[in-house]
Amino acid sequence: MHRDKWKDDALCFEYDTNIFFDKYEEDETLRSAVDKLCSECPVSKTCFAVGVSTKEWGVWGGIYLEGGVISKEFNTHKSKKDWAETWQYLTTETANT
Ligand code: SF4
Repeated sequence: MHRDKWKDDALCFEYDTNIFFDKYEEDETLRSAVDKLCSECPVSKTCFAVGVSTKEWGVWGGIYLEGGVISKEFNTHKSKKDWAETWQYLTTETANT
């Protein structure tokens, strides 16, 4: 199996990748829309795990990372409720069926 097969199911498959990097940093009004897209993405858990483990930059699983570390600067727009729900979802193990 191809290592990045999970990307085939990504909701952002045909999106401009800059919205997860430069544009996310520059345009605060865009951030919530990108977060929502990621929250509905079927591979967000894998995306986040890959982003952390490979020390990536940009939005991975709906969380902005800086070298695999959660950014203090680019996640502040998230409400406490959104943050809690996102974090719980991304870090809760699910059984493989
Ligand atoms: S979680 Fe977001 S950035 Fe990751 S694959 Fe899905 S839509 Fe793309």
